[in-house]
Amino acid sequence: MDFKEYITVVEDFPKEGIKFKDITTLMENGEAFRKAIDELGNFAKQKGADLIVGPEARGFIVGCPLSYALEIGFVPVRKAGKLPREVVGVDYGLEYGKDRLTMHKDSIQPGQKVLITDDLLATGGTIEATIEMVEQLGGTVVGIAFLIELTYLEGRDKLEGYDVFTLMQY
Ligand code: 5GP
Repeated sequence: MDFKEYITVVEDFPKEGIKFKDITTLMENGEAFRKAIDELGNFAKQKGADLIVGPEARGFIVGCPLSYALEIGFVPVRKAGKLPREVVGVDYGLEYGKDRLTMHKDSIQPGQKVLITDDLLATGGTIEATIEMVEQLGGTVVGIAFLIELTYLEGRDKLEGYDVFTLMQY
């Protein structure tokens, strides 16, 4: 299946010069969405993952069906102030300024094999921060899976040493 057929490239969103990759048109097609998740699921199975970790908000859209299909848990990564219990947190750089991502402190058992997932790999900053938290909690990152990779932003360089799977590349 040519998954790119289902992605809409939106010019100048969220600001001028950006070609935003809109995954909602993939999600709207039941067959394409399921097949895309299945591809990520095959990678996760191959890597022996026993837990999925995904950052808000689109990491939930990819991570939750994966968790359901593989019958393994899902752990949400959220912006500071959203999770109700004790958290670990990491600051990460955005284009303008900083933000903070958090995870529940007891969400990973030491030695658990974690697959991190998100819709899209751009600069890699979001996932770098996510890896840091997973490893702080004693998890082993066995793989990282995305629907889309923007190869020209070279996010993969930040993820050196990790097994990265991407379904589509731009
Ligand atoms: P990074 O931290 O790798 O620079 O940025 C990746 C994050 O930004 C992901 O969580 C992703 O959802 C969001 N993102 C950046 N650009 C796009 C885009 O063109 N399309 C979509 N769907 N998400 C994007």
